[in-house]
Amino acid sequence: MSWRELPRGGLILEPGNSARRKTGDWRVYRPVLDNDKCIRCLLCWAYCPEGIFSIVDGEYKVGNRSWSFSLSIDYDYCKGCGICAEECPVGAIKMVEEVK
Ligand code: SF4
Ligand code: SF4
Repeated sequence: MSWRELPRGGLILEPGNSARRKTGDWRVYRPVLDNDKCIRCLLCWAYCPEGIFSIVDGEYKVGNRSWSFSLSIDYDYCKGCGICAEECPVGAIKMVEEVK
């Protein structure tokens, strides 16, 4: 698309079109989440700029602790910024080098 075809003011005329842009292609580092270590505070969910943490319903047991859900990451859209790993209070998310 040439710049001449862009809408005036750069307006977004089609809501939701970002679903077609798989921002995971840019990633150099990938977050790896350890659901055994996670305390379900949801800070990663709140801070992720891509909003790609999903809450997966279902009992999840670790030793004598039990949770009603676990978390997953949609790697199609995770751009590897590392904010989630930085914000996680218990170090349950590690950034590892992406291998493609
Ligand atoms: S690395 Fe960035 S984009 Fe990916 S899950 Fe973490 S906060 Fe979201
Ligand atoms: S920030 Fe860490 S402890 Fe909190 S929900 Fe995310 S992975 Fe789990």
